[in-house]
Amino acid sequence: MYTCKDAINLLLDFLDGEMSPEDAQHLREHLSGCAPCIDFLRTYKATPGLCKRALAQQMPREVSTKLTEYLRARIKSAS
Ligand SMILES: [Zn+2]
Repeated sequence: MYTCKDAINLLLDFLDGEMSPEDAQHLREHLSGCAPCIDFLRTYKATPGLCKRALAQQMPREVSTKLTEYLRARIKSAS
């Protein structure tokens, strides 16, 4: 069972072109049922390239705090 943190990490690997078919499948399964991650993905895609790269590079350590805060804020504003 993938958590949102796992999913986002996988997603960033995927965007860098590194993902096994198994991981891609797990990610798709998570994304199919997780609105916050779908929302994040939408925002990520809309982010300009330079910021996106910076975002991706910071991810491994920062993801659990910054991204959680970010997603929480997004969820709150969406509801
Ligand atoms: Zn999720």
